[in-house]
Amino acid sequence: MTTTMHEKFEMLLEKDPKHECDGLGRDKICVRIVAMAELPTRFGDFHIVAFENNRDGKEHVAITKGDVIGASDVPVRLHSECLTGDAIGSLRCDCRDQLEASLKAIGQMERGMVLYLRQEGRGIGLANKIRAYSLQDDGLDTVEANHALGFRDDERDYAVAAHMLMSLKVESVQLMTNNPKKIDQLTQYGINVTKRIPHIMEPNEHNRFYLETKAAKSGHMIDFHGKEHLPEQSDFPIVAGMSEAQIGAMSE
Ligand SMILES: [Zn+2]
Ligand SMILES: [Zn+2]
Repeated sequence: MTTTMHEKFEMLLEKDPKHECDGLGRDKICVRIVAMAELPTRFGDFHIVAFENNRDGKEHVAITKGDVIGASDVPVRLHSECLTGDAIGSLRCDCRDQLEASLKAIGQMERGMVLYLRQEGRGIGLANKIRAYSLQDDGLDTVEANHALGFRDDERDYAVAAHMLMSLKVESVQLMTNNPKKIDQLTQYGINVTKRIPHIMEPNEHNRFYLETKAAKSGHMIDFHGKEHLPEQSDFPIVAGMSEAQIGAMSE
């Protein structure tokens, strides 16, 4: 008899219900699996696995497709929570397009997962992110507003993600990202990254400006509302239809 995904999750959950380790990274992050369920979505049939951080109580989820436990070369996308973008459809960033692109892509794969990390506004929280938006509205440039955004060092993010992958016994991953630095940082925490998968968004009326190189001004993207887009997912945007030169200019 074959073990179903759900049974595998149950086994993981029962095996180490009170998991506690020395933790990863500067903040000694340790997370444990606390619940899981099936999650049919408009992007495909997934499982959702809830993790709790036993230091600060923060909750994170893995949205998994297919048999990922103990698997190798699992396509993985790291997504940092963005309430304004993901849920409300804000156009100040492209988080929702990036999230949908990853769920769509992984939803069509045999296996893969999105790690949804509860680190709003690069870890400074929702209210502080909106304060930074407000500073931009008042005319601060991106650098100043980014400063206000706190530009959290990425370590914490990847420590949580790395621990989640370890908790799920993932042997190795193919990281969906346009930012090779993410691979280095995940590798530092002992995750075996075998490949990088470019992360490509579908063009739509909201991200069309990315395709117009004249909108790129020394790496800053100005949208149709005259607002600068911050790379909130630490991933420069690639929209289907971009030329090699455009992609090159974007990644500088
Ligand atoms: Zn741990
Ligand atoms: Zn966002």
